[in-house]
Amino acid sequence: MTARESDGESSPLSRRARETPPSGIRRFFELAEEMDDLISLGVGEPDFSAPWAARSAAIDSLERGRTSYTANRGRRDLREAIGEHVRRYDLSYDPDEEILVSTGASEAVDLAMRALVDPGDTVAVPQPSYLSYGPTVSFAGGEVLPVGTRLENEFALTYEDLDRAGAASASVLVLCYPNNPTGAVMTRKQLREVAEFAREHDIFVLSDEIYAALRYEDDHVSIATLPEMADRTVVFNGFSKAYAMTGMRLGYALGPPNVIGAMNRIHQYTMLSAPTTAQYAAIEALESCDDAIAEMRQAFNRRRNFVISRFNDIGMDCFEAKGAFYVFPECPPGWEDDEAFAEALIREERVALVPGRVFGEGGGGHLRVSYASGMPELKTALDRIESFLRAD
Ligand code: PMP
Repeated sequence: MTARESDGESSPLSRRARETPPSGIRRFFELAEEMDDLISLGVGEPDFSAPWAARSAAIDSLERGRTSYTANRGRRDLREAIGEHVRRYDLSYDPDEEILVSTGASEAVDLAMRALVDPGDTVAVPQPSYLSYGPTVSFAGGEVLPVGTRLENEFALTYEDLDRAGAASASVLVLCYPNNPTGAVMTRKQLREVAEFAREHDIFVLSDEIYAALRYEDDHVSIATLPEMADRTVVFNGFSKAYAMTGMRLGYALGPPNVIGAMNRIHQYTMLSAPTTAQYAAIEALESCDDAIAEMRQAFNRRRNFVISRFNDIGMDCFEAKGAFYVFPECPPGWEDDEAFAEALIREERVALVPGRVFGEGGGGHLRVSYASGMPELKTALDRIESFLRAD
C-alpha cells in the first residue's frame, strides 16, 4: 500500500479526515448497487421534481445571464420572501440581519456548529438522528453527547431524556422535528419542556426544521416561538424536501444577529454565496408554489397512511409517524438485529430499507423506511416484505 492509499500515520490525510467514518447509509447501499429490480425505500429524497414555476424561474434567470455571485447572505428579495414565508410558523426575522441563505440546510448546520462550538464543548444530539450532526460537531472540535429518545414517547425528546443523558453540561442542543429518521413530531407542550431545560442550563438550540411543511395532522411548532427562545435558537430550513429541490442545494438559517453574522463570516470565506440559479427558483417557489407543495404533501400523506397500516398488518409494529416522509417500523418478531434483517431483505426480496442502528442510540431493532417513492413501488415493496416474512 502506498502512502497515498494508507490510512495510517504516514497518510497525508488529517486525523480529522481519517477519523470521519463513511456514512452508514451509503455503506449499506453499496450492497444493493448492482442489483436489478431493486426497490429502494432508503433515500431521503422526494420522487417529485421541483414545481414547474420554480424550474422555469431558474431557466429564465439563466436566459437573462444572471450567473454572478449574489450578496453573501443571499439575494435580498429572497431573504425578504423567506422572512414573509416563515410568518406562517409565527417566526419573525429581519432579512438584513437575521436570515442567511445557505448551500442547503447542510451548510447552515455546519456553519452554526463552527460559529457556536469551541474545541471540547459538548453538543447534545438526540438519537436516533440524522447523520450529519455528529460529524459537523467533530469538524468544529466539539464532543457529541448522544441523548436517547424512546419509542414509548414516539421518539419525542423529553426533559427526562435530557436530564438522564447529562445534557445539562452541553452548550448546544440539536433538535430535529419533524424527525429524520423516525417521522416523529413534537407538540408545543412537549417543546416547552425542552425549552425549559435549555433555559435552565443556558443551552443554545439548533433546530433543524427542514420538514416543517411536511406535518400531516397538525401545524408545525418551532421551539423558537416559545418564550425567551428566539435569542438562543437558530432555525434551519430549506427547499430540498417540501419543494423537491434537493439538487438545487438551497437552504437557510434564521437566528439572532450575532450568530447569523458569525455564520455569515465563515460562509463568506468557504462558500461566498449560495447558488444563484437556485435562489431565483426559490423566490418563485415561495411566491407561487403553495398549491404544488400542498399536492405533494397530500400524496405523501396518502402514502404514509398506506405504509403504516401495511406494516402493522404484516406484523412489523409501526408507530404513527406524523411528519417528514419516514416511518420507523420495528423488526418483525424473531429478527432483533435490524442490520441482518435489512441485509436479508435486500438479498432475498430486493427491497432496501435502512437499518435503524445507523442513526444511533435507540435506532437498533428498527428500520427507516422512506415513503418518498411512488405508490406502485411502495405497494410492490410491501408485498415483497410480506412474502419474505411468510417464507421465513
Ligand atoms: N436535515 C435533515 C434532517 C435532513 O434529512 C436533510 C436531508 N436528508 C438535511 C438536513 C439536508 O438538507 P439539504 O438538502 O437542504 O442540505
